[in-house]
Amino acid sequence: MASFQGKSVLVLGGSRGIGAAIVRRFAGDGAAVTFTYAGSKEAAERLAAETGTTAVVTDSADRDAVIARVRESGPLDVLVVNAGVGAFGDPLEQDPDAVDRLIRINVNAPYHAAVEAARRMPEGGRIIVIGSVNGDRIPFPGLAAYAMSKSALQGMARGLARDFGPRGITVNVVQPGPIDTDLNPADGPMKDIQHAVMAIKRHGRPEDVAGMVAWLAGPEAGFVTGAMHTIDGGFGA
Ligand code: NDP
Repeated sequence: MASFQGKSVLVLGGSRGIGAAIVRRFAGDGAAVTFTYAGSKEAAERLAAETGTTAVVTDSADRDAVIARVRESGPLDVLVVNAGVGAFGDPLEQDPDAVDRLIRINVNAPYHAAVEAARRMPEGGRIIVIGSVNGDRIPFPGLAAYAMSKSALQGMARGLARDFGPRGITVNVVQPGPIDTDLNPADGPMKDIQHAVMAIKRHGRPEDVAGMVAWLAGPEAGFVTGAMHTIDGGFGA
């Protein structure tokens, strides 16, 4: 297990679910962690008190606020962009504003945050974005906007890996399958249809994803960049 003692980590979207597990993991491994939240003030404050981390409100739908937050965080060793939303349903019925908001949070914010972080990131810095197995596979209807946003992260990571590689900065996407969170509860209405296409027929845990993120941020992964890392119980197999 890598030690992150002395490392500065910013997690965008850390108050709940996968993001909270990532915050706990880095804090437990000794990093100085700041995380953002938008709506869940109480959960964020509880997590910050429990882990000795810093919670700050920043809406990922607001590009300038995201850029300012990254800038104010100073030189980061690790940036994790976890904040993401769904807009599921029939595209013919969907509110176009909801789709555009999803794109701002799931695509625009990761891009601008990654670029801003790279301006001051030291040699060997790590940029990790949480995508989805739906970036590769969409076995059900109603996922087009969400899947589009997660596929966009793949091109972003490949491109930025080339841009920042000469400075030893890696850029990777972690692509979870069904993980037990508020967004996709293990006992939710989608569980049976999801488990039917999986090799391991259950939801994963947020801690599973945090473990992969910690590995990518650690010294063993310095040669891993521009790559997608799927952790999905075989959803995409
Ligand atoms: P949750 O809905 O459980 O948690 C989402 C987190 O993102 C919360 O901390 C939330 O903070 C934050 N967030 C959402 N919108 C914003 C915003 N506008 N600004 C700042 N923070 C925001 O989701 P998960 O933990 O399940 O998902 C985390 C990531 O993993 C997402 O990118 C999601 O797409 C991806 N993912 C999840 C899967 C799953 O099955 N759970 C599968 C594949 C990918 P707050 O409540 O304060 O707004």
